[in-house]
Amino acid sequence: MSKIIAINAGSSSLKFQLFEMPSEEVLIAGLIERIGLDKGVFTILVNGEKVKEIIDIPDHAVAVKMLLNKLTHFGIVKSINEIEGIGHRIVHGGEIFHNSVLLTDETLQKIEELSDLAPLHNPANVVGVKAFKEVLPNVKAVAVFDTAFHQTMPERSFLYSLPYEYYENYGIRKYGFHGTSHQYVSERAAELLGRPIEQLRLISCHLGNGASIAAIEGGKSIDTSMGFTPLAGVAMGTRSGNIDPALIPFIMEKTGQSEIEVLDILNKKSGILGISGLSSDLRDIEQAAEKGNDRAETALEVFSSRIHKYIGSYAAQMSGVDAIIFTAGIGENSDIIRSRVLRGLKFMGVYWDPALNQVRGEERCISYPHSPVKVMIIPTNEEVMIARDVVKIPVPVHH
Ligand code: ADP
Repeated sequence: MSKIIAINAGSSSLKFQLFEMPSEEVLIAGLIERIGLDKGVFTILVNGEKVKEIIDIPDHAVAVKMLLNKLTHFGIVKSINEIEGIGHRIVHGGEIFHNSVLLTDETLQKIEELSDLAPLHNPANVVGVKAFKEVLPNVKAVAVFDTAFHQTMPERSFLYSLPYEYYENYGIRKYGFHGTSHQYVSERAAELLGRPIEQLRLISCHLGNGASIAAIEGGKSIDTSMGFTPLAGVAMGTRSGNIDPALIPFIMEKTGQSEIEVLDILNKKSGILGISGLSSDLRDIEQAAEKGNDRAETALEVFSSRIHKYIGSYAAQMSGVDAIIFTAGIGENSDIIRSRVLRGLKFMGVYWDPALNQVRGEERCISYPHSPVKVMIIPTNEEVMIARDVVKIPVPVHH
């Protein structure tokens, strides 16, 4: 048995989950926010109870020390030496990383070099890696990439129809994200269906604040809706998803905003928030639509119809589909979105039960037993995938 910690570090936050492996039991989980700002927030979930503390946390290294102190404080470990591995979620692995890797000086340097492709995310992830290295220098550390699962996409899927040398010279291509989640739910779907993943064509819909759809054939991602960045694809909480690129100079001209400002609008003020003018949180939109708010209703329709179209397109790419999977905050919880996404898909063999659809956050098949295409709700678990990879990846033995 061993204790493995899964880490997701952002620029001012750090999420963690400590697992007992191989049982995959979660011993403790938590979130540290406002690192480097005043009034940091340390939230920890231990034995089903939430403990919150407001305390200044100057940097990530201090956050890591506090976190490790908590583990001994709550008696989760007798000594921090019991931690045998650390798994770090890294957003961008470019074309270099097709799988998780051991973090060494060399691999860490490559991740830093990829910051060009993910300037908001990779540097923050690296800060997390370094903070742990400072405090636990001799513990095995592994990087798990959001992009890795999608590295199996064929060129016809990942290549933009732009001058080819942009791909060669600047790495301009579709990378895709949420890979760890798409991989987890696809593997779990195969388990639940009792069929080898090699034989399955799956469409996985990860619908959270960020949302992406993936076409998974034989366990491999062959296409996904996010692109060079997570801005592409379906409409999201605050992101526009795909738009006509010619709109960017047009909006700049009309509104007098700079290109950075327009990009900010596309990332933070569009999607469900932009259309509804109310909120990026789907629960608020569902409530407003229920009360007759037209723009909230429109936001629900735009959000679900984009996903609906991706399902048709991915089914076409795989010459059919065996199961459609819903996951993440909206996918797991919103019967309203699921029912709209699945509307009118009987023509392709999707028969689902509205009564079974009335469920939140539970693993469940909501299609009728006779439905050729299964529809499944599978709560995602990126953290356990990280912990599994930490166990799986060997440490080289030096003689
Ligand atoms: P993130 O991408 O930040 O991890 P989540 O996967 O937590 O996001 O998803 C957040 C989204 O899930 C929000 O839009 C939220 O409104 C939605 N959501 C969570 N619970 C429910 C629910 N019970 N009904 C409808 N939507 C929900």
